[in-house]
Amino acid sequence: MQMFAPVDKPPSLWAATAPEAKLHPRLEADIEADVTIIGAGFTGLRTALKLSEAGVSAIVLDAGDVGYGASGRTGGQVNPMLPFNTPERLRKLLGQTYFERLTETSLGSADELFSLINSYQIDCQARQNGWLRVCHSKRALSAARKSVEEWNIHGAGMVVVEGEELHRLAGTKAYGAGIMTPKGGAVQPMSLARGVAKAAVQRGAAIHGNSAVIDLEKDGQKWVAKTAHGSVRSDWVVVATNGYTGDLVPKLSRTILPLTPIQMATDPLPGDVIDSILPAGHTISDSRRIIMYSRKEPDNRMVYGGLGKPERSGEIGGFDWLRKDAERVFPQLKGVSWTYKWGGRVALTDDHLPHLHEPQPGILVGLGYNGRGVAMSNVMGRVMAERILGSQADALPFPTSPIKVIPFRPAKMQGLGTAIWLMRFLDYLETR
Ligand SMILES: Cc1cc2nc3c(=O)[nH]c(=O)nc-3n(C[C@H](O)[C@H](O)[C@H](O)COP(=O)(O)OP(=O)(O)OC[C@H]3O[C@@H](n4cnc5c(N)ncnc54)[C@H](O)[C@@H]3O)c2cc1C
Repeated sequence: MQMFAPVDKPPSLWAATAPEAKLHPRLEADIEADVTIIGAGFTGLRTALKLSEAGVSAIVLDAGDVGYGASGRTGGQVNPMLPFNTPERLRKLLGQTYFERLTETSLGSADELFSLINSYQIDCQARQNGWLRVCHSKRALSAARKSVEEWNIHGAGMVVVEGEELHRLAGTKAYGAGIMTPKGGAVQPMSLARGVAKAAVQRGAAIHGNSAVIDLEKDGQKWVAKTAHGSVRSDWVVVATNGYTGDLVPKLSRTILPLTPIQMATDPLPGDVIDSILPAGHTISDSRRIIMYSRKEPDNRMVYGGLGKPERSGEIGGFDWLRKDAERVFPQLKGVSWTYKWGGRVALTDDHLPHLHEPQPGILVGLGYNGRGVAMSNVMGRVMAERILGSQADALPFPTSPIKVIPFRPAKMQGLGTAIWLMRFLDYLETR
């Protein structure tokens, strides 16, 4: 089985500042439940919460603990839009029925998450102030205008912001125009993961940390998920391992390309440095192939992210480039110390869509948010719970697709470094 090493040393800002730190006990017995959930990120935790609310017993197993994967390390931007695919392309990929369902679901995904946070009173600094996606070139702006038109037909409510107004809202003159999506926002992601975990446990779910599932096998009508010190026997298994996916389900890891986004955060900064940056509390990202994403925290810290590079040592590189880019975008940040630096893994799919699989009766897999999973993983978790609670597979917002290995994946993995270098170079030429 493919294992992975912890990568956030020192810990992420989120792990360092989230309340309710709690290590969940290792699984040390052979037990039974209705559902086993592998992965305690947003996807698995949302499934656990919905099932436990319905009186279905759920055991969550994680190799690390709650929020150990991308969910506790993420940029925490709640963006109600599938990445990469325009509505036109989505319709081609999905056909009319799933196009309509997935468009509606993804555009509603931020509202769905904020409403969940509200109903469970989860203390995670949730704010829905809007998301600015700034354009790095004329070509990107004309593509953005087209996508605004297309998405707005479906109720996205996006607005093009230009010139002085953009400079004021973003706090940077590095970009001339952008799109504002009012439903976007931000959360403290580790607080969110812990809050959902707590709500699920209060309703009867059990969570075990330090409990990597090393084998999954059928025993009569049941599935048995084995860890080094115990096992869970259940009718259903939900695999919610996203960018950390190994080989528990045959070929599953070959349906995704793992990437390693990184982030860094400052300590609280004085007003004269930070007041002009994102004054209305928007989150921001840009249109480059290798994007930047950033946010200002309620306590005046800055968080800035991009794409990193896993080193052979298990450490993650790319922070020097990230600091230079942060100073290019926000010259106000020249010379500040970036106290926290961390990264995590996301899963790209070939069609850039989240995938829902049911490879065998009783096994559900939900993954592949293509780096935009804060809102959509929550939707996927809810949808997988609904399937277990009796919804027909063909009535869900996501099509249930067969497990399909990415063609030429080894070559794509091998060429990833060069492709990223090339994309960065093209971005540089277009941004000069
Ligand atoms: C640095 C970074 C920045 C990001 N920024 C954003 C953003 O701003 N907005 C956005 O929408 N998305 C963002 N994303 C993506 C988003 O965070 C993810 O799509 C989302 O968190 C995925 O949640 P998940 O629960 O599916 O997976 P994860 O949170 O990755 O959880 C998977 C879990 O599975 C566990 N696991 C794996 N194998 C096993 C096993 N065999 N047994 C037991 N447990 C196992 C892991 O320990 C892990 O905890 C970012 C991701 C990263 C890494």
